[in-house]
Amino acid sequence: MSAQTATAVTNQTSTQTFQKPTTTQNFADIYQSSIENKEQFWAEQAKRIYWHKEPEQILDDSNLPFAQWFVGGETNLCYNCVDRHLEERAEQDAFIWLSSEINQELIETYPAVIDAFKDLGNNVEFYTDYTKRRLTYNDLYKEVNYFADVLKRHGIEKGDRVIIYMPMILEAAYAMLACARIGAVHSVVFGGFAAHNLAIRMDDAEAKMVITVDAGLRGGKVINYKSLVNQGIEQAAVKPEHVLVVNRGILPFEVKELDVDYATERRISCEANVIVEPVWLESNTPSYLLYTSGTTGTPKGVQRDTGGHAVALTTSMDYIYDGKAGETFWAISDIGWAVGHSYTIYAPLLAGMTSIIYEGLPHQPNPGIWWRIVEANKVNILFTAPTGVRMLKKQDETWMTRYDVSSVKSFFLAGEPLDESTASWLTKHLGVPILDHYWQTESGWPILSNTPRFNDKPHKQGSPGYPMYGYDAQVINEETGEPCKAGEKGLLAIRAPLPPGCLTTVWRNDKRFIDSYFSLADSNQYSTSDYAVVDEDGYFHILGRTDDVINVAGHRLGTQEIEEAISRHAEVAECAVVGIQDELKGELPIAFCVLKDYELVATTENRFRLEQQVIGAVVKSLGGIARPAAIYFPQALPKTRSGKILRRAIRALAENKPTGDMSTLDNPTAIDAVKQSMKDY
Ligand code: AMP
Repeated sequence: MSAQTATAVTNQTSTQTFQKPTTTQNFADIYQSSIENKEQFWAEQAKRIYWHKEPEQILDDSNLPFAQWFVGGETNLCYNCVDRHLEERAEQDAFIWLSSEINQELIETYPAVIDAFKDLGNNVEFYTDYTKRRLTYNDLYKEVNYFADVLKRHGIEKGDRVIIYMPMILEAAYAMLACARIGAVHSVVFGGFAAHNLAIRMDDAEAKMVITVDAGLRGGKVINYKSLVNQGIEQAAVKPEHVLVVNRGILPFEVKELDVDYATERRISCEANVIVEPVWLESNTPSYLLYTSGTTGTPKGVQRDTGGHAVALTTSMDYIYDGKAGETFWAISDIGWAVGHSYTIYAPLLAGMTSIIYEGLPHQPNPGIWWRIVEANKVNILFTAPTGVRMLKKQDETWMTRYDVSSVKSFFLAGEPLDESTASWLTKHLGVPILDHYWQTESGWPILSNTPRFNDKPHKQGSPGYPMYGYDAQVINEETGEPCKAGEKGLLAIRAPLPPGCLTTVWRNDKRFIDSYFSLADSNQYSTSDYAVVDEDGYFHILGRTDDVINVAGHRLGTQEIEEAISRHAEVAECAVVGIQDELKGELPIAFCVLKDYELVATTENRFRLEQQVIGAVVKSLGGIARPAAIYFPQALPKTRSGKILRRAIRALAENKPTGDMSTLDNPTAIDAVKQSMKDY
């Protein structure tokens, strides 16, 4: 065991200076140099992080589409996130944890929650609407060292896979960073996934340990994480050696043979004041796996490297988000998603910022909670998916105006199309740039974005922007592979090598990496599986997944284009358009619209009026070919926990077919709502 007792913090950064590349403040030049002189460009960016050993080669592209960045360089993600900042910002907050779930009522019902906080060691402040824990970089350094020591004492070594199945709590962040510190490969599984999903991931990753909690909370409902882990282990073929349990004092559980109590183990490391030296890893060593759904139904283990990941995220915080050390960043996401990995945990820390970790819903205890948090913590940059904003848009608008949100300088949105009315609603109330940007789990950081840091390409509402440095992205004709002209719809593709930070392969499945992403006619083109169009000014517009496209009488239509047209209707809160089989025309679009006020369709007369208006809006915007064959008004649409509307399930319901596994649904009652809306018709 390389742990040692230390009273003072060691900081190895003093021998190395960190440089920000000098910029001409012109994004077009940066982009061009990243494509034409990629090695020089990324060699410059690599200076932003600490290398224990400098890279010998910036890019090895001898085996495309597999690319290796910063070959021979040795670094450590955790060191770059934590240790490196101790000299300058030891007393600055690294994380601020806020939970609107742990409220007064809960604490009265579960008094053990208070003792659990004491056992876990950090400052807790109770407010009427949320509970808060602040953690400086120095505190984080200590906690991550204790956590790393606990992992090591339980046999976790470099290269071992560790599943983290936890809600949005600080210990989840320690767990991720501790894995990174000792070179273990973490695989965070979203808390909304059930035992089956856990078992699939345990088997594919061959996980040696699972880290979990007794329970989580969602809208006041207790989620029994521990029991789900027990069931997952029963179902898995490959069993972990240990289950490390962070007991939050919410739900008593039966201690099993594999269980290890985190608080007891932490105390041992804390009393010995243990420091675990970071393990220096060759840049291409896997840092984590994140499973994402594929077309086959078996999730793909997106594999991220170490050095490329650190360089890419640090650069993005500067060039894309314009985030500065000392500022506060709030990515309202879950650590189970790529956004949570990149922009709740790693990137803000790499950049020396303060990151907010929020456990709670956007509208509880009331729809002002986001803005109250922004005001109280002086948040500078916000990032979330449009779905959360649409939820707030349905509520009383005055919730937005009660708080001082003047600290916010920009608000980024990604993950799904940003409709114009949601963007305008935010612009009206926040008065800051509302910036759509586009990326995927696979990329780990934005592929297309607007860049408030530069002046030469102003943000254009309605577009997620233009290709980011390093992405040789083009819209191409799917069949011929030729670049499309401005205004012509095609497939969004990226020429290999993918830039640093993107997936390097599918875990232990190089073939699946090629089959899933590089099977176009030109085998060096990565397919995003998204349709897009570039306008005359070079701004991209996403037209939906290639699998969401419908074909009406030989004409291709993106369901998203129709949705855009519908959501401009003042009464519509959100909608989903799917194609259903039609004997004559192949497919026909039908629309499911959630109204801001459901009572509006209580009378047949009103329903008819709204139907006609919605159809009229589509025809006006896209022509008669896009005319929806039917309009339904459900009270809700089925969504994944990450907020994506499950169009495939809606389509199955419309065609009276089985919906498949709905275990990951955020709102199961929406299935009945959709069925009912068709009966109402
Ligand atoms: P995920 O990997 O789950 O984050 O999903 C990535 C997919 O979400 C992309 O392939 C797009 O289909 C969609 N997506 C992400 N960002 C945007 C955006 N800004 N506009 C439209 N679609 C988006």
